[in-house]
Amino acid sequence: MTSVRRLFVLLCGYEILPITVSLRGANPRFIVSVPICTYLLDTEAGWVLFDAGLDSHHLTDPAQVEKYFSRDGWFPPPVVEPVHEMEEQLRQIGIGFEDISILILSHLHADHSGHIKRMPQAEIIIQKREYDYAFSDEPKVAYFPEDYDLPGLNWTVIDGDQQLMPGIDAIFTPGHTPGHQSLVIDLPSKGKTILTADVGDWIENFTQEILPGSATNDEEAIASIHRINDLHQRTDGEMFLTHDPVLVRKIKLAPDYYV
Ligand SMILES: [Zn+2]
Repeated sequence: MTSVRRLFVLLCGYEILPITVSLRGANPRFIVSVPICTYLLDTEAGWVLFDAGLDSHHLTDPAQVEKYFSRDGWFPPPVVEPVHEMEEQLRQIGIGFEDISILILSHLHADHSGHIKRMPQAEIIIQKREYDYAFSDEPKVAYFPEDYDLPGLNWTVIDGDQQLMPGIDAIFTPGHTPGHQSLVIDLPSKGKTILTADVGDWIENFTQEILPGSATNDEEAIASIHRINDLHQRTDGEMFLTHDPVLVRKIKLAPDYYV
């Protein structure tokens, strides 16, 4: 039994980064552009979004570019063209941010938190460890509190693995950040499908068990890679990667969809 009817993959922009940000130990002379994907699920319980992309308003105002990106060495800043805007891609599907009933967040890095502010009506589901870390005073890289530390948001904090509804399972996969989570969804025809989020940016993170460049805990990060590989083997479910620049060109993008 699954309540998921369709999966849409939204391509929401690109980040221009040394390859070492994705693949620990690679040659830092290689600069790559990696996609930012989010996932929209059409379910019997309404529209469910997995991750909220990057807010392009941070990119259009030079003062914000300096504040959010250049000052922290995140240069050049990401690229969000009009064709990448989530609002436009949702419009092509026939909905808007106001129609999202549940927003699940893998973690609160800025390329996943951008449009949270557009969905005050949504139940926002996050892992407890991620919530506590994001709202703590600890110095953090790539967290933009202005994206998520806002009044009027409906947070639902979960702790560990949890079935969110029939056909959507949250899988606790910490390491890249303290409270990162992935999703396993069940599609009517395609069956089990794994939305890895940032456990590994590239498929090589999984096939060669390479740590992500950025991790708050390496032991947890490699355990999460093993966990996704194990799930992949046991379910034979296709893996959708949020930041793989090669795989993204081989999949169906919204408004096309998977069933
Ligand atoms: Zn991240």
